Amino acid sequence: MDKIEHAKDMIRDAISKNPKIAVACSFGKDSMVTVDIARKVDPNIPIFSVMTLYKPKSTFEYLVQMNEKMDLDVHVFMVADEIPEILSKNKIKTTLLSTVKFNAAKARYSKRIYKVDPDLCCKLLKVDPTKEAVKDLDAWISGLRNTEGIIREDYHEIEHKGGLVKINPILSFTEKDVLDYLKNNDILLHPWYLQEFPDNRKYRSLGCEPCTKPISTDVPERMGRWQSTNKCAGECGIHTQILKN
Ligand code: SF4
Repeated sequence: MDKIEHAKDMIRDAISKNPKIAVACSFGKDSMVTVDIARKVDPNIPIFSVMTLYKPKSTFEYLVQMNEKMDLDVHVFMVADEIPEILSKNKIKTTLLSTVKFNAAKARYSKRIYKVDPDLCCKLLKVDPTKEAVKDLDAWISGLRNTEGIIREDYHEIEHKGGLVKINPILSFTEKDVLDYLKNNDILLHPWYLQEFPDNRKYRSLGCEPCTKPISTDVPERMGRWQSTNKCAGECGIHTQILKN
């Protein structure tokens, strides 16, 4: 309860100091907690989401479902030539970004760019679209947490990077805190979290389909991301790079 009240206080304070502010939502479990807490503080706070054509079909379906259920009016940013049918059919506000650089990179490396050069793939499909999403903002709110993995242990609740403030209101939440919050607030989980695999493995951190694998419960949550690449358990770049000068 203290953590939730603290997160609300942080968001309230951030809104008062940064008039142009929005919440980033990947539609993973941490995002859903952050969005729900932020909307309890300000029912109109804007929500944006960076999607890629590699995200699971279930993520698009869940986005549509939760957008309606939670009245999010989410604004999607994605590199694509056309709006995915599920988004257009459901009137999801979508900004398409040019595919020229991504197609050129894909042609240069191979079709499996996410295996050969996942940093470049993430830069083109996630980091650059996030820069577009935040370019007119003073601050953005993310669902980043310290206990997700070793490389997230040193983050602070408020980050000043370039010309943008980042607020991490659920930084101290554990995985259990997040799951408890969702349960206690009747918020549906993305269906991938509910899948069960041999050896008690499950999805604990969701990203694009080729870069997300089920893992056991005794390793850090992000160990299932970018497996078999040099980026294993790493970062896509939106939390490590300067998004606005
Ligand atoms: S998570 Fe994988 S598929 Fe998605 S942008 Fe990054 S490297 Fe590409």
